[in-house]
Amino acid sequence: MKKGILFIISGPAGSGKGTVVNELISSHDEIKLSISATTRNPRPGEENGVHYHFITKNEFETRIKNGEILEYTKYCENYYGTPLKEVNEALERGEDIILEIEVDGAMQVKKKMKNSVTIMLTPPDAETLESRLRNRGTETDDVINWRLERAKEEIKLLPDYDYSVINEDGKSQECAKIIYGIICAEHSRTERTKEIIKKFI
Ligand code: 5GP
Repeated sequence: MKKGILFIISGPAGSGKGTVVNELISSHDEIKLSISATTRNPRPGEENGVHYHFITKNEFETRIKNGEILEYTKYCENYYGTPLKEVNEALERGEDIILEIEVDGAMQVKKKMKNSVTIMLTPPDAETLESRLRNRGTETDDVINWRLERAKEEIKLLPDYDYSVINEDGKSQECAKIIYGIICAEHSRTERTKEIIKKFI
């Protein structure tokens, strides 16, 4: 049976990644989103096992030691990581799976799983990025400035990604369609479809 493909979607704060990924997942049942483990506290409305696996620092470190984590990073003093078993099982079942993770983790996965595909979602320009972060109105100036600087650092890694998708204001549906287009195109790459030739010789 054909294996699924692992897609990694990164996007700095202000890229609108969450909305775009939700749009993609809700319109394509066959595409699954990997549920990360994290040591941060759940936000209102977040459910354990749905948005994240919320675990303790000790548990996270044990999982790293046991080789159960495909990649991980520390972001805002909390661990975030991808459970290896869940990803491998989905790929074996032939399902495409999406990791919605930041740049550090994305590069770790790219090294380990050469067939994976990396996509970065970016805001159209620095002004839009700043106004999106400031207009959220939920964070202090210090936090906003930190996120802004971090976002700019993350965007510098764009050349290391396979695809870049720009999210203009109000265009999240279009972005989801572009990403779906990338997913379809990757399934037609000749290197993934070599077995077809065997049917003819
Ligand atoms: P948040 O706390 O806002 O849910 O996520 C913070 C950042 O961590 C986001 O950029 C998100 O993409 C990233 N992230 C979430 N899960 C993982 C993961 O499993 N691994 C890595 N490397 N980053 C993650």
